[in-house]
Amino acid sequence: MNRVEQAVFLVGGRGTRLGALTHHTPKPLLKVGSAPFLETLLNEAARHGFREILLLAGHLAEIVRHYDGLMIRDCRLKVLVEPSEAGTAGALHFARPHLAERFLLANGDSFFDINLLALTQDTGAAPVARLALRLVEDAGRYGRVEVKGDRITSFREKGDSGAGLINAGIYVLQKSVIDRISTLPASIEKDIFPQLAELGLVEGRVFDGAFIDIGIPDDFARAQTLIPNLTKRPMAFLDRDGVINRDVGYASRPDQIEWMPGAIKAIRLLNDRGFYVATVTNQAGIARGFYTADDVIHLHAWMNEQLAKHGAHVDSWHFCPHHPTEGLTDLTGPCACRKPNPGLLEAAADTWHPDRGRSFLIGDKATDLQAANTFGVVGHFYEGQIPLDELVGKILAGRL
Ligand SMILES: [Mg+2]
Repeated sequence: MNRVEQAVFLVGGRGTRLGALTHHTPKPLLKVGSAPFLETLLNEAARHGFREILLLAGHLAEIVRHYDGLMIRDCRLKVLVEPSEAGTAGALHFARPHLAERFLLANGDSFFDINLLALTQDTGAAPVARLALRLVEDAGRYGRVEVKGDRITSFREKGDSGAGLINAGIYVLQKSVIDRISTLPASIEKDIFPQLAELGLVEGRVFDGAFIDIGIPDDFARAQTLIPNLTKRPMAFLDRDGVINRDVGYASRPDQIEWMPGAIKAIRLLNDRGFYVATVTNQAGIARGFYTADDVIHLHAWMNEQLAKHGAHVDSWHFCPHHPTEGLTDLTGPCACRKPNPGLLEAAADTWHPDRGRSFLIGDKATDLQAANTFGVVGHFYEGQIPLDELVGKILAGRL
């Protein structure tokens, strides 16, 4: 199955439990921290490499509509407005002509801090539906999910308290799920998933990221500090040549990329653990005229496609095209970005605003570590002595 490139958010609900707050603002657009809640979800989807986001709007759709056509990095936003209110299954039904064969679907009023690409990873044949689950102390408030192995066997209504698994509101679905919708209005959670679960067609995958649903006043208040804290992630700055891929000298094409042992696993581990991952790489081959900046951009896009097959991604790729003396273009001369200067790290930090205290760099040259030092993060030296994921594991465990 091809990779999942479309993310769909349900943003049409009335949000009645929040009272007056949602009279003039759709619930997902309420401010949480300094920005509308929805923008956290959109940024998350975009940084994971989704190419298109559909916003399924209903209540106060005219306010959601201003997101239509916007780009977040390489991800395009499209707003679809349901012609009438027909539940979450109705929203999907109306969106059908715009849906990919397989897509990520998420509630626009909850945030589950997980590696979204890990949810899209198949271990065998792709299931009709895969749900992200979370273990919570009081499952009764949400409705409990029963599982057997990786299959969901039933959904229980809200009620009996105690710890248990809940549906955390993020799914990977095949478009064929819509064929199950026979009458409208209908709810995907209450009508469609239970029906599919009885047939053994729903997979559950448990994640342990933070979860918050802004649908009730107490949690909406709690989200005001929780969301800014969660998105203040640490960052792993990774040098490219010699750390992610073997340093063959001026690699600019996919056939020149040999991944370092454990490199893909290491990036996946960082994604799973909630780190931003940025590469910071000197590419003086551009100044020297060996290849162009576009070649490098294309190569990095290709590398992210390869990573996606393993549920991994790099959030942003930063490269320095200059050289102080070599080459005959305006890229020759002093610059602030070529390591050991910290310019590439600064650019990555300006993009994501990471928590510097918990951030680190991995590099295979003294100049990498100098850049880390000047910028103010811990630098780890790596020259392939152990698989990269082992090194990252040690760093995350605080053993380095
Ligand atoms: Mg290097």
